[in-house]
Amino acid sequence: MRALLLEQHGEQIISQVQDIDDDRLPEGDVTVDVNWSSLNYKDALAITGKGKIVRHFPMVPGIDFAGTVRSSKDPRFSEGQSVVLTGWGVGENHWGGLAEQARVTGEWLVPLPKGLDERQAMIIGTAGLTAMLCVMALEDGGVRPDDGDVLVTGASGGVGSTAIAVLSALGYRVTAISGRDSNTDYLKTLGAKEVLPRSDYIEAPRPLEKQRWAGAVDTVGDKLLAGVLAQMNYNGTVAACGLAGGYQLPTTVMPFILRNVRLQGIDSVHTPLHQRQTAWERLAGILPDSFYQQATQEITLDQAPAAARDLLDNKVTGRTLVKIR
Ligand code: NDP
Repeated sequence: MRALLLEQHGEQIISQVQDIDDDRLPEGDVTVDVNWSSLNYKDALAITGKGKIVRHFPMVPGIDFAGTVRSSKDPRFSEGQSVVLTGWGVGENHWGGLAEQARVTGEWLVPLPKGLDERQAMIIGTAGLTAMLCVMALEDGGVRPDDGDVLVTGASGGVGSTAIAVLSALGYRVTAISGRDSNTDYLKTLGAKEVLPRSDYIEAPRPLEKQRWAGAVDTVGDKLLAGVLAQMNYNGTVAACGLAGGYQLPTTVMPFILRNVRLQGIDSVHTPLHQRQTAWERLAGILPDSFYQQATQEITLDQAPAAARDLLDNKVTGRTLVKIR
C-alpha cells in the first residue's frame, strides 16, 4: 500500500510517500480502505515537524479519514460499510489516514450517517466536527439565534469556515474575524453577515469593553480570545477550541464574575461516541450543498507535504481534502 511516512533523521523529520507492506499496519480489529483524508492544522504541524505532534516514528500522519471497511473482527462493522474516523490520537501515536489502508479499533469508528458520502465527510473532517461541537457548546450555554450576534475567529480556516456555515444555517447572525481582507467575499458566501479585520484585536483589551456578542467560536486564542471575552454580552458563551494565534490567554476574571460569561473548552479528540454520532448526524442535516463546493481544495497524497507548509504559512482557505485512491 502507498502511505505518507514520517521518519526522524536526527533533528529532522522527513516526509515521503512510500510503498509499504500492509503487514506493517498497527494492531486493531477493523481494517479500512481509506478513500479520503484531509489536512488539518495538527497534520501540518506533524508533517512539517514544526510541532511535537508525533509520539514515535515511523508514523503515518492523518488525524482523520473516511473509507470502506475492508475486514472487521468487530461485529458492529461489516465489509463494504462506509465509516469515518477523527481523533483518538490517530496520526499522532497510531498510524493515520494518509495511507491507502488504516487499521484501528472499532470503538474509534463512526458509521457514516445517512445523507453524507465519504468525500463530504472529509470535507467536514476533524475541523468540521470540532466546529459542530463548538456550536453545540453555544447551544448548551443557552445562546439562541435571537440573542444577538455570534462571532467566529480564524474564520478562513477549516474550523472557522464550517462554524460560519453551520451557525448561519441554524439562523444565527454571524460576524467573522479574519486576518485576510481578500477572503471577505468567501466568508460572506459561507454565511457571515459582517467581516472584521483581525488587526482590531492586536492591542491588549481592557478588562471589560462594550458588549457585542451573544456567543463566540474561537480558534485563535491569545489576545484575540482575551479581546472577545471582554466584549461578550451578559450571559454569553465562548467555545474555545484552538491556538492558531498562540496558546496563552492574557485575560482577567472580570467577564466571568461581572457578566456571567461562560468559557467552554472544546476537545474533539476524546469526545465520547454518542456525542460524536449526534454531531455527525447534525452536520449531515445542517450543511447546505453549497458548503461542499465553496470551502474545499483537493490534493493527492504526493502533494500533502507542500500543502502542509502552505497551511502553516496561512496560505490555505477552508478545507484541504486528500484523495487517497
Ligand atoms: P486552519 O489553519 O485551517 O485555520 C486557522 C485560521 O486561523 C487561519 O485560516 C487564519 O484565519 C487564522 N490564523 C492563522 N494564523 C493566525 C495567527 N497567527 N493569529 C491569528 N489568527 C491566525 O486551522 P483549523 O481551522 O483546522 O484549526 C484551527 C485551530 O483549532 C488550530 O489551532 C487547531 O489546532 C485547533 N483545533 C482544535 C481541535 C480541538 O479538538 N480542540 C480540533 C481541530 C482544530 P484568517 O486568515 O481568516 O484570520
